[in-house]
Amino acid sequence: GCVVHWFKSDLRLRDNRALSLAADKARGAGVPLICVYLVSPQDFVAHLMAPVRVDFVLRNLGDLKRRLGELDVPLYVETVQKRRDVPGRLVELCGSWGARHVFCNMEYEVDELRREEGLTRMCLQQGIDFTVVHDTCVVEPGLLTTAAGGQMSVYSPWHRKWCAWLKEHPELLAEFEAPGRNPPVVRERYGEVLETPIPEAPPEKSLTNEEKERYARLWPVGEDEAHARLQKFILERIKAYHTNRNLPAGDHTSSLSAHLAAGTLAARTVVREAFRASGLKTITDDRQNGHMMWIGEVAWRDFYKHVLCGWPYICMGVAFKPEYNNIEWEYDDEKFRAWETGRTGYPLIDAAMRQCHEQAYMHNRVRMCVASFLAKDLMIDWRMGERWFMEHLIDGDFASNNGGWGFSASCGVDPQPYFRIFNPILQSEKFDEAGDYIRRWVPELRDVKGKAIHDPYGRGAEALARLRGYPRMIVDHKVARERCLRRYKEGIGRS
Ligand code: FAD
Repeated sequence: GCVVHWFKSDLRLRDNRALSLAADKARGAGVPLICVYLVSPQDFVAHLMAPVRVDFVLRNLGDLKRRLGELDVPLYVETVQKRRDVPGRLVELCGSWGARHVFCNMEYEVDELRREEGLTRMCLQQGIDFTVVHDTCVVEPGLLTTAAGGQMSVYSPWHRKWCAWLKEHPELLAEFEAPGRNPPVVRERYGEVLETPIPEAPPEKSLTNEEKERYARLWPVGEDEAHARLQKFILERIKAYHTNRNLPAGDHTSSLSAHLAAGTLAARTVVREAFRASGLKTITDDRQNGHMMWIGEVAWRDFYKHVLCGWPYICMGVAFKPEYNNIEWEYDDEKFRAWETGRTGYPLIDAAMRQCHEQAYMHNRVRMCVASFLAKDLMIDWRMGERWFMEHLIDGDFASNNGGWGFSASCGVDPQPYFRIFNPILQSEKFDEAGDYIRRWVPELRDVKGKAIHDPYGRGAEALARLRGYPRMIVDHKVARERCLRRYKEGIGRS
């Protein structure tokens, strides 16, 4: 017999709850641990997974396999063409290896919950124990409720409870032990399992060679890399996070989102490390403290997963706030194209979209700006932007992305009120005052001096902007703002 750990979005050895439990179980029973990852191209498509994210996962699998190999723990990797066949294939493999127990960490999206429900039944029929545990959030979704037991939909009070909960349950931040070495017989008995190669990305999700090289340079993989990034951030930048976190120029945030999404790093680990480094006795919601502010951002990730569990209909393409489902949207291909290619004529917006094309990543402040611009200035259905983000980001995560779009388009949980409409020029002046971020990403404006960088045509840099082919604004913000207020008011009124 053996014990199996099924890897999904938890591609790490350290501080991995299900893997740790599986290793314990195997050790206790004196049987080997076998790991498995099933590549599901249909899931990649169904989940709008960006090719860069598929590539990141596959590269991480290579690292994971190497590390597990050093412990004589096999990582079996197989492509299963049809997503509905994944559970059946997993059970079949377990049968062929004589596995008595399978462990995995829970994923909270509706499809995944359904899949695991089916697996529970299948395993039961085959006499295999199946254990699914909470791991991806620091505090299990759904646990923090109002005094009356209702689900919470406002971040601040929820976050206060989150902090209080961690104070009462410090064990939640304890580290799960990484698996140890397998008994030596494993190589002979499961040799072929050790040999499976990591597949190439499926054709519909493949990258060009240039992209492969660029992303490999920008986003090195593996949990050692993730830990090194975390330590560097804690050492050099976390202290000033509360003051600098909104500035897209420069390197003020952790850039750990890709690792948290792939699971090369656990949220628990990053909170524990940041807390330790803070020197404080408890985790609080103190926004004047860099460490606490950063932990509070990681808590947003927990919050959005908690929302996903409480209101699973958000997986179905509808707004969290149902009264916002009747807003009249524009479906203007030309304007959408200008937005996605970074040619709106608003320098900050264009810089952000071009950063995304180059790095498959965007700073949080500009994510909010481009989302607000698409939904409110262009009145384009926010779901088109939500989808585009998923298809292009290396850190694409359904709950956080849906939450971010809902916030910006005002139809989500605890959103920005609809009448707060970002002025893209004021945002630019406020958060990229010197224009460094814009100059980096919009080469046409590199030589524009002073405040004209935020609005070259309006502020005396017209000749230069025209010469370099920088577009004029595709909408007038003032007019767009009025239209937006009207449409939102009408939409909400209709329901
Ligand atoms: P840091 O500032 O260092 O924060 C640390 C970690 O906390 C992040 O890695 C992330 O895991 C979490 N976090 C920070 N801010 C948020 C937030 N607002 N919501 C949820 N988690 C947060 N984040 C994703 O991971 N995947 C997405 O698909 C995604 N889509 C977004 C879409 C929109 C429209 C908006 C406004 C935000 C989105 N975010 C998303 C949240 C946020 O922008 C990124 O997590 C952050 O920019 C990643 O950079 P970082 O790792 O340097 O963050």
